[in-house]
Amino acid sequence: MESTGDRFNSSMEEKYRALAYDTALSTLLAVLVYVVVKVSLDGIRQWRARVSVLIVGSGPVGLTAALVAVRSGKVLKLTVLDERYRTALLCRPQQIALDPRSVKFLLGLGVDFDNMEGCWHNDHFFTKIGVFQEYLLSILEQKKQKIDIKVRLGTKVSSVFL
Ligand SMILES: Cc1cc2nc3c(=O)[nH]c(=O)nc-3n(C[C@H](O)[C@H](O)[C@H](O)COP(=O)(O)OP(=O)(O)OC[C@H]3O[C@@H](n4cnc5c(N)ncnc54)[C@H](O)[C@@H]3O)c2cc1C
Repeated sequence: MESTGDRFNSSMEEKYRALAYDTALSTLLAVLVYVVVKVSLDGIRQWRARVSVLIVGSGPVGLTAALVAVRSGKVLKLTVLDERYRTALLCRPQQIALDPRSVKFLLGLGVDFDNMEGCWHNDHFFTKIGVFQEYLLSILEQKKQKIDIKVRLGTKVSSVFL
């Protein structure tokens, strides 16, 4: 038969269990609210920190800068201009030689040299400047789904344009 003391003990045990359960639940809820608020605030802060970028010149340097900007994740809108039209820009026949440091840097930006016309010699990659530019432009085209990217060829930047 259960004594009064036993009943008291089991009711206290139940109370403590309920209290422990409530504490665990409210702690979990507080952590959850903290995580949701932090993630949302970080997202808003990151979104507000994004900037519009204008790159004048779609040569190797301009297009590489465009890729760096896209990779940074801080760009809301990217505009790339060049006074040359596409055909004039991409038919440039002169050769460029990319040294190992440049190759490493470009690999980090997602440039796949196996898919670019050119050849290797002494760890340097040789290609035509137009081929290189066309490849970088194609990467930018692929990024258009994620970022607002406008490539305006045949647009000369001058005081009138500005
Ligand atoms: C004849 C020749 C041979 C070369 N041979 C080699 C070689 O063998 N190996 C090698 O590594 N490098 C070589 N180079 C160098 C190579 O071309 C350059 O290193 C490379 O083009 C530099 O890239 P860039 O983006 O700085 O400039 P560019 O390629 O000159 O690009 C600048 C772009 O800006 C545009 N632009 C300029 N002003 C404006 C404006 N106001 N508004 C809009 N657009 C504008 C231009 O139209 C141009 O497309 C050679 C260059 C020449 C001219």
